[in-house]
Amino acid sequence: MTQTTRTVNSAGVNLTVHERGDAAAPTIILVHGYPDTSAVWNEVASRLEARFHVVTYDVRGAGESDAPKRTADYDLSLLAADLQAVADAVSPGRRVHLVAHDWGSIQTWESVTTAGAEQRFASYTTVSGPSLDHVGFWMRDKSQRSTRQLVRQGRKSWYIAAFHTPVAPVLWRTVLSKTFAPAIARMEGLPDAADYPSPTLGADGARGVKLYRANVRSSLRNPRERPTDVPVQLIIATKDRYVSPAIALSSKLWVSKLWVREVQTGHWLPRKAPDVMAQAVAEFVDYTEGGQEPRSLRRLRSGASSRAGAREFDDKLVVVTGAGSGIGRETALAFAALGATVVIADLNAAPAEATADLVRAQGVDAHAYVVDVSDVAAMEDFVKRVVADHGVPDVVVNNAGIGIAGSFLDTTAADWERIVDVNLLGVVTGCRLFGQAMVDRREGGQIVNVASAAAFTPSRALGAYCATKAAVLMLSECLRAELADKGIGVSAICPGIVNTPITTSTHYVGISDAEESDRRKRVSKQYALRNFPPSKVATAIVKAVRTNAAVVPVTPEARGARFMSRLSPGAMRRFAQIDAL
Ligand code: NAD
Repeated sequence: MTQTTRTVNSAGVNLTVHERGDAAAPTIILVHGYPDTSAVWNEVASRLEARFHVVTYDVRGAGESDAPKRTADYDLSLLAADLQAVADAVSPGRRVHLVAHDWGSIQTWESVTTAGAEQRFASYTTVSGPSLDHVGFWMRDKSQRSTRQLVRQGRKSWYIAAFHTPVAPVLWRTVLSKTFAPAIARMEGLPDAADYPSPTLGADGARGVKLYRANVRSSLRNPRERPTDVPVQLIIATKDRYVSPAIALSSKLWVSKLWVREVQTGHWLPRKAPDVMAQAVAEFVDYTEGGQEPRSLRRLRSGASSRAGAREFDDKLVVVTGAGSGIGRETALAFAALGATVVIADLNAAPAEATADLVRAQGVDAHAYVVDVSDVAAMEDFVKRVVADHGVPDVVVNNAGIGIAGSFLDTTAADWERIVDVNLLGVVTGCRLFGQAMVDRREGGQIVNVASAAAFTPSRALGAYCATKAAVLMLSECLRAELADKGIGVSAICPGIVNTPITTSTHYVGISDAEESDRRKRVSKQYALRNFPPSKVATAIVKAVRTNAAVVPVTPEARGARFMSRLSPGAMRRFAQIDAL
């Protein structure tokens, strides 16, 4: 799509303004930070321009816009006046949506916290730039912040002191103009791009230090009370080297309509993950333009915007496989009781629908799907549909599993294939597809794999089952290590003997159908006598999600077996020789 460029005059300062998309569509103004120019937004703008009127501009002192000489000319009030002038030029008489990053975000807070701002600005999405006034109050208010948080932010803000020294502009024009871009690209893992950073980087860096000099000390020393009624989407970049989550949240007390989205990224979100940024902006703009609030936004409501009596998993999306029966059904119900929207997947339609009805009876949404977890193509289709219809899940419980029991030598290749396909590869596929969706969303999540105490309890009667469950346990440990820095937790649940219908479907190898039927009845009776309810496993699963527990043995015998497997593997081996069938 083409871009048009014009000049907007703000009290004598000429600003270079770029417009894309249909001017009749809702207008989004993207404000860049330091030492960037409007080019920082190119990737995001190109993703938004098909549906919105997208406006970027070089702020005073940067890129193609005028650069006043005096430090006083970079006062926040003048930057706010510039933004007002741009808004009036590109969207006369119609409210605009604001999106801002880094210093652009600091200056845009000034605009949205001016009295009556909600008449001019329909929404504000802010990333990596707090209001200096809000920070000023945060620093003073010991009930809001700890000394540790203050020290942590102090360590991240060393460069602000450096910008107050006379050498800073000189360094920008000489050394940093050449070294800054490759250093930041390496440190932040930014993709190579011809359009960014701008060729004016050295000059922008040198002139832009005036932004800090004109505003930081004065605002932090004498903060002004600055509330706002503009709806704010506060994006917290969890790995930001310059802005800590605590300081980003300093605005919480001042915003009446607040949504907080945590994104697993460093400081330059608009360049690092433009898809994520554009999606977050589009979702918020659509809603604040008068659309229905999607579940994916409702779950981000924060502070004064949260609902009274909110429950722990309200508006979270939880997927449970094998949820037509036993532990899976109880897990779906446990999350539903805490407010979650639940996706119920099972091999069989009728039990899945029955679970969905039970979930709906708790007053939350449920969606039933028929899928065989061992069918990779069917799982790919299932995951695609879930993500398209309901969004990326916050929690995935890979629970579907089957039982096969009997001697190893009686277990056929087909038996092995079936149990590995369902118990191990079904879990692998669930982790792989939903895990990728969670990583791409960058908002973390929790994967729960239902293994078994059989994972650490060898048995001559359960070789195939034990092998698959041990593999699920180890897979979960490995995946946990891999996904930790993406904010995604992985838990392995290891129940012992739980009273569920699994005993009526377990396949006993090496015996006739009649003998198998008898054995199922006998074992079902034993499980019923033991009478450990699946609802208690569901409670353990919810707790594992809450605490990101690594391995959770459930039932006393599971805990005992886990303990003994470490204390005395020899005793476990002798125990394994008993023919329990
Ligand atoms: P269950 O038989 O009551 O429920 C299992 C559900 O999974 C059923 O609804 C079934 O239709 C579904 N399922 C089976 N194969 C599937 C497939 N290929 N694709 C999709 N869905 C499928 O059993 P349960 O006891 O609730 O078992 C749940 C999980 O807990 C299993 O992984 C099992 O190995 C594990 N587990 C159970 C016990 C126990 O004592 N019950 C102990 C330890 C671990």
